[in-house]
Amino acid sequence: MAEGEGTTYHMTPDEFRRWGAEAVEWVARYMEKVEEFPVLSRSAPGDIRRSLPPHPPDRGEPFDAIFRDLDEVIMPGITHWQSPRFFGYFPANVSGPSILGELLSAGLGVQGMLWSTSPACTELETHVLDWLVELFGLPERFLSSGAGGGVIQDSASSAALCALLAARERATEGASNRRGVDRRLTVYTTSQAHSSIEKAVRVAGLGSEALRLVGVDERYSMRPPDLERALEEDVRSGHLPCLVSATVGTTSSNAIDPIAAIGEVCRRHGVWLHVDSAMSGVAAVCPELRFVNDGLEAADSYCVNPHKWMFVNFDCDAFYVADRAALVGALSILPEYLRNTATESGAVIDYRDWQIPLGRRFRALKLWATVRHYGAEGLRHHVRKHVRMAAQLAEQVAADGDFELVAPVPLNLVCFRHRAGDEVNQRILDRLNSSGELFLTHTRLGGALILRMSIGAAATEPRHVEEAWNAIRRVAAEVQRG
Ligand SMILES: *Cc1c(COP(=O)(O)O)cnc(C)c1O
Repeated sequence: MAEGEGTTYHMTPDEFRRWGAEAVEWVARYMEKVEEFPVLSRSAPGDIRRSLPPHPPDRGEPFDAIFRDLDEVIMPGITHWQSPRFFGYFPANVSGPSILGELLSAGLGVQGMLWSTSPACTELETHVLDWLVELFGLPERFLSSGAGGGVIQDSASSAALCALLAARERATEGASNRRGVDRRLTVYTTSQAHSSIEKAVRVAGLGSEALRLVGVDERYSMRPPDLERALEEDVRSGHLPCLVSATVGTTSSNAIDPIAAIGEVCRRHGVWLHVDSAMSGVAAVCPELRFVNDGLEAADSYCVNPHKWMFVNFDCDAFYVADRAALVGALSILPEYLRNTATESGAVIDYRDWQIPLGRRFRALKLWATVRHYGAEGLRHHVRKHVRMAAQLAEQVAADGDFELVAPVPLNLVCFRHRAGDEVNQRILDRLNSSGELFLTHTRLGGALILRMSIGAAATEPRHVEEAWNAIRRVAAEVQRG
């Protein structure tokens, strides 16, 4: 047969139906057996690529060949983030409704850059982000009905960059966009902030030297008087402070900056306050954990990741601003080919003006599906369970003579170490992670190597945490015996 004869080359709807059902079955089976895999992939660098053909196929292949390679080639290179024994970093948990929402979004294949390129894509996003304001008890100034509003970003990193660009525009009264970066601009955070803050400072062209690391107290939280002093010194020496980025729930130790006091300082100095609550902000779904929102009324922008601890697939960061004009002013450019009557009327939101790229996916579908499936009640149930498991583990660590807790445990992260020092802790970590029984990551606090156990996978039950603690003690004893 000559090229193309008798085929469209496309997968027909009937073939899609068949392989789609197979793919859903594959994922359902994965959910059932995810616990059985060694948590950390045992692949060495290059292993996966060596198993792949060096050249792309000339002739299309049947889809079952892809399923075969998924099992044989891809799975050995997977670290099982959805394992109930995954305790590394922060969670990136998912759920059935979110996966289905993602599938539906892919099926629609909508490009939601403007309201007019799919009104439902924009309006569902605005609506669900207003729901989250209610669900989390966030300040009303973040609702779309006032001057502010929310938008879904791919990540907290993008949210931080957008916050900085808006803050920079406000501080320079629009001059940054016209003339380039003002060399006087400065940004404030702490040594405990996420690396994405420094990255944003670099990407925005301010340079790392424009970033001031404000001192922290013994709980690793920002000291507001130190912030005030840093701002005053910079203003005196001719700098132009534009942004303070505070964290609720640092990645290293879950430290919480005192937002109300920081907000007071920011207000006095007219500086934009961004609050990064990437994982911990989700705790606010529980009224008794709303201390994570303390002082938020003072924030100019805020971000929380449903893709970390709220069963929504990566990527989904909810980013809020109190004054959308500053954000849109920093990011809007309207070329002729995007002009349309809805935009000109001013009656609609065009989310392309609220983010760095032009194009955007229909991410609100998975967030909507997840919130509707669980309801506030279901989400609270799981957050409470994770927090309870962390509190129990913290008690056991504190009661153990060989280990010590090294930071408060406000939510679902337990930071601890063996008393015998860095080398022993490193060996415990390496041995545990290579066992495949569980996966932990580390940090450094006060110069010392610290083990972090982050509890937030959807499938984690109390028995997994108990087994992990038993494994930690067993491995510690083995390491000590040499
Ligand atoms: C995880 C995390 C980030 C980065 O999140 P991304 O969405 O992956 O960019 C930023 N800040 C804090 C506090 C985090 O925990």
